[in-house]
Amino acid sequence: MADHQVICWDCGAAVDDPYVNTCPRCGGLLSVKMDLEPVKEMSPQDLRKEAIGVWRYAPFMPADPLRKVSIQEGGTPLYKTCRLAEEIGISSAHVKFEGLNPTGSFKDRGMTIGVSHAKELGAKVVGCASTGNTSASLAAYAAKADMKCAVFLPSGKVAAGKLAQALFYGAKVLSVDGNFDEALELVRKMADERKLYLLNSINPYRPEGQKSVMFEIMDQLDYEIPDRIILPVGNAGNISAVHKALQELTEVGWIDRMPMLTGIQAEGAAPITRAFSAGKEDFIPEDEPETIATAIRIGNPVSGRKALRAIYETKGTSVTVTDAEIISAQQLLGRKEGVCVEPASAASIAGLRKLVSMGEIDRDERVVCICTGNGLKDPDTIIKNSSAPIPCRNSVEDAERILFG
Ligand SMILES: *Cc1c(COP(=O)(O)O)cnc(C)c1O
Ligand SMILES: [Zn+2]
Repeated sequence: MADHQVICWDCGAAVDDPYVNTCPRCGGLLSVKMDLEPVKEMSPQDLRKEAIGVWRYAPFMPADPLRKVSIQEGGTPLYKTCRLAEEIGISSAHVKFEGLNPTGSFKDRGMTIGVSHAKELGAKVVGCASTGNTSASLAAYAAKADMKCAVFLPSGKVAAGKLAQALFYGAKVLSVDGNFDEALELVRKMADERKLYLLNSINPYRPEGQKSVMFEIMDQLDYEIPDRIILPVGNAGNISAVHKALQELTEVGWIDRMPMLTGIQAEGAAPITRAFSAGKEDFIPEDEPETIATAIRIGNPVSGRKALRAIYETKGTSVTVTDAEIISAQQLLGRKEGVCVEPASAASIAGLRKLVSMGEIDRDERVVCICTGNGLKDPDTIIKNSSAPIPCRNSVEDAERILFG
């Protein structure tokens, strides 16, 4: 396994206790410091002996590939989306479709590393709070690793497909009287009392796996650095992980500049965009986050300060999109490219569209949108926003009447 150390992102202190999720000295956020000296002797081609996926990038990962808990996560397609680009008015765009991970979202990238680490520690019970996808992913990896799994979901606010997955893989599913932020507080208390091992993205090992989406994008573009990466921001673990991947690629000398990281939030749940617009390095939590994009319905993003630094340091930006813009972008991607993503993921497309129309993105920029999860996770939203099936008698005449009449 690659040498590494858990340190405090805020004060830099080394953290030895594997069960804490914040710095014992200052209460700050944790991060993993990888020893990348061995990678400096390597080139991207050296890694291509392994199939594309999270574990191709094992030298950047703080877990032992020989003892991995894996269901072949990552290796998702990077589509060149010409019809989408034309519609939006830019010369080219790519979509990285994370909905084709084993449980249908990018969360699997973090979970393979997080659960592999939990197994190395000897954890018996793992848990998380979730808007849905984290719980679906953790439930699957816990099943694979033969661990008990407890997931804490905000009651009544989880998309049907995600709930079905958590139940299906055999997790204990708790429906908490509160929103995501409150469910997270509860499970963090349980973790602090050592009743379970916490696998939310505040756990520093999970974002390490999530770095792999950026490694793959570079691999798939043959190291032609895109100008901009656009992604939805909820708890902000993903944008922070993408930034860390770019920092590490810079450190080993594989890239010499960074794409502008562009975080999109829903108008009703936008603490990061508001902080960015005000030029602040910290954000003000929102008590009542609301959006149709339940995966980013988060008012108090755990990695919010990391996200803001990621955006500032890469000269990126952050804007909000409305629920109507999200649904419209979701349908556009389906109808122009045959790609079905969930509402939170469509926020990146809606953000691209908005930034182009504002003139913030120019026609020739090379943009990659990360579409984080599969549309089948949330069939209710799709059906509600589509026209209803048309009743048809069992006859050619009636079918013709409906189709051509
Ligand atoms: C978790 C999730 C997000 C938000 O990612 P963060 O790391 O919390 O910012 C966005 N889209 C989907 C589909 C997700 O599952
Ligand atoms: Zn600290």
